[in-house]
Amino acid sequence: MVHYNKVNDVDIEHFESVVGKEFVSANPAIRASYLAKSVMGLESSMGDVIIRPRYTEEVRKILIWCDTRKIPVSPISAGLSGGFGCPLIKPGGVVLDLSRMNRIIKIDEDSRYAIIEPGVTAGELWAYMEKYHPSFCPPIADGAPPAATVMGDAIDRGFNLCTSSMGPQGDIFLGGEVCVPTGDIIRLGSWALNGTEPFYKWGLGPELFSLFMGSQGAMGVFTKGVVKIFPHPKFKTVKAWAMDNPYDMQNLTLELGKQEFGVAHNTVMVQGGNWPLVMTRWPKDKVPNDYEFYKKLGISKWWMNWECWAQTQEELDTVTKTIDKFAEEFKKKKICKNPDAIKEWKLHPKQIQSRLRKPNKIAIPYSYWEAGFLFITYYTPWNECADFAVEYNKILKKYDFPEVMWIASIERCRQAICMPIVCFDSSKPEDFVRVQDMNRETFELCLDRGWINYRPDPFIHAPMTYSMAGTYLKYLRKVKEMFDPNYILHPGRLMLP
Ligand SMILES: Cc1cc2nc3c(=O)[nH]c(=O)nc-3n(C[C@H](O)[C@H](O)[C@H](O)COP(=O)(O)OP(=O)(O)OC[C@H]3O[C@@H](n4cnc5c(N)ncnc54)[C@H](O)[C@@H]3O)c2cc1C
Repeated sequence: MVHYNKVNDVDIEHFESVVGKEFVSANPAIRASYLAKSVMGLESSMGDVIIRPRYTEEVRKILIWCDTRKIPVSPISAGLSGGFGCPLIKPGGVVLDLSRMNRIIKIDEDSRYAIIEPGVTAGELWAYMEKYHPSFCPPIADGAPPAATVMGDAIDRGFNLCTSSMGPQGDIFLGGEVCVPTGDIIRLGSWALNGTEPFYKWGLGPELFSLFMGSQGAMGVFTKGVVKIFPHPKFKTVKAWAMDNPYDMQNLTLELGKQEFGVAHNTVMVQGGNWPLVMTRWPKDKVPNDYEFYKKLGISKWWMNWECWAQTQEELDTVTKTIDKFAEEFKKKKICKNPDAIKEWKLHPKQIQSRLRKPNKIAIPYSYWEAGFLFITYYTPWNECADFAVEYNKILKKYDFPEVMWIASIERCRQAICMPIVCFDSSKPEDFVRVQDMNRETFELCLDRGWINYRPDPFIHAPMTYSMAGTYLKYLRKVKEMFDPNYILHPGRLMLP
């Protein structure tokens, strides 16, 4: 059993001496505002004090103090991951808000990486690159609001705007700098060797960087990150094909993804879903909720979009023609369930334009449906994403949630990121129970099938997962103890402790 201390006046005086009085706040309204940011967090609680450091050395001093005093510390970059940045326990201790650490330190166009601080938001990095390095783009999250950070997305093992071509956000990082409660500042990747540029993720090997990915702030505090940047070609479009079931969506997309060269590398974001995705972007009482209405609007039951980027119009034409050719050929194949429903969905130029605009705000309207929403995201092998959709939707329906399913390809359909969007009424306490009952039942199903939750919550996903991976948990705890012997970092996250 770990015992934590409450923050007292002496602690606050010390924090003020480290970062300055104006960057420490124990004001209840300010503390509560951090909960309000965590739109999707069902389990968050309030911190006792908010500290907003500017420099790595300040982070180090705060961690050393808190380690000695056994005060919990929960790091937040922007706090938009759904509440995962907020404390879980009481006393909540320190909320370490890293948003002032928002410098873009270096852009290297030849080795193609950017060194950024954790508070750099998707919007800021996008605007900076557009202005100073217009031939390159940073891998910001595709659906997260512009105020979310690039670093937070990686720590969460999220995905980005060219994830189908380049891989998940964790793979897009080449290293970084972390500060741990033992008082050390560790540079990762090739950066670990004094003076070496952070150009090579596997660094000195064995590589420590991965220990911090997916750690939800429970292993160390990132004070810098090194993220790959990509060329930003001018020739772009979005192709869409309609179908009436998830299996045809899965199998057609896989055929294209498996080609890799000549087509899949040019399809940067490959994402699809079902018609309730459209419906739940408006307030529930303002739109019809039967499929017939959406059918008349030309919305198919299922669809897949390919966002294509190319260096020339000719290359772009080859990619779009290849998609069409594969779709036509797929209709004739035995595995195709309903060839009649497979049709090109010709998007209006405005729809294409809006899809290509970055950072986009496409995911925000889900909160309009009933005031609350939760993304519960899983990684599955691509060829099981249709099974996932069918099985998960059955349970959503059983609990009276709309069957909203969004699916995207990671690394040319090696994996699928499957995201049911649970729309519920956050003003009704009984709805939280309904969400968690549904979450538990679906998670039992997912564990059984070996589908991995990408941002495991502390009450259902993490305990149930680790109970089936005991040896892994044993070593994960040892790793944690190496960096954070007193378990002060984000207690409860990932079931540590
Ligand atoms: C409407 C909406 C749409 C979204 N769409 C997407 C999407 O398209 N793709 C996607 O991948 N995600 C998406 N997300 C999830 C999330 O917003 C992103 O992953 C985001 O980039 C997280 O960044 P953040 O700075 O808000 O993270 P935070 O909430 O600040 O932190 C994320 C986690 O990392 C920890 N942490 C934060 N900073 C540090 C640090 N410096 N050192 C150590 N630990 C730290 C926190 O404790 C927390 O557990 C979406 C969220 C919302 C609300």
